[in-house]
Amino acid sequence: MPLIADRKDFVDPDTCCYRCVMNGNNRMLSSGVAFFLKHDDGIVHPYGPHCAAETLGGRDGLKGIPDFTARDVDQPGGGESGGGAGGSEVPVPQDAALRDAAIAKRYLLLRMEKVANIPGINPMVRYQPLQTIYQDFLRTGILEPADVTHILAIERKVTTPTNLKTNNLLDVYTAETKLTRRIKESISPKDKSYLEGIRLWLREKLRLSAKQIASAKIKIHSSAFEN
Ligand SMILES: [Zn+2]
Repeated sequence: MPLIADRKDFVDPDTCCYRCVMNGNNRMLSSGVAFFLKHDDGIVHPYGPHCAAETLGGRDGLKGIPDFTARDVDQPGGGESGGGAGGSEVPVPQDAALRDAAIAKRYLLLRMEKVANIPGINPMVRYQPLQTIYQDFLRTGILEPADVTHILAIERKVTTPTNLKTNNLLDVYTAETKLTRRIKESISPKDKSYLEGIRLWLREKLRLSAKQIASAKIKIHSSAFEN
């Protein structure tokens, strides 16, 4: 069975590209972003953009996957580019149905898993009415067109608060990832607990102020949390 592209997501910047490691080269994904490909055994491994496309036999194989890094402003272009073209991130043209499916998958996973599973996250994130679709998706890996329509309708509903829409959830996920990296890198206990305080706030309020972003020294989208 061929490999299947699963998602584009953050990784620790010292994570190695799976294909490079198999070729005896422990090249790190220093951009902090990877394409995850699902192998025959169901295990998902991280790849750099160039290696992901090579492994799938072209960039078309990366179409229609959810991109959890879409609001990241901090991607210098792939740590493993090696030959120029591999690192530069040109958006893959996609047809509308594929694009909608990817957006719906991403919203489902943000609300039921990615953001919902962050410890201490505001319980509003997890949305019980999506539970059945989520469980079916975990089992089959497929979202039926009716599910895509249903999920997109929830995201776009006027009664869905702005902080539970895609962009804000992506900003929360991005800020959480970057704060956690900063906490891991911090040497002084004082810095660590200061950053942990900001992270607690983010998890509860689903937003950060411009002052908090600046003092935490994290780079996030310029329009993040403006809702
Ligand atoms: Zn590689």
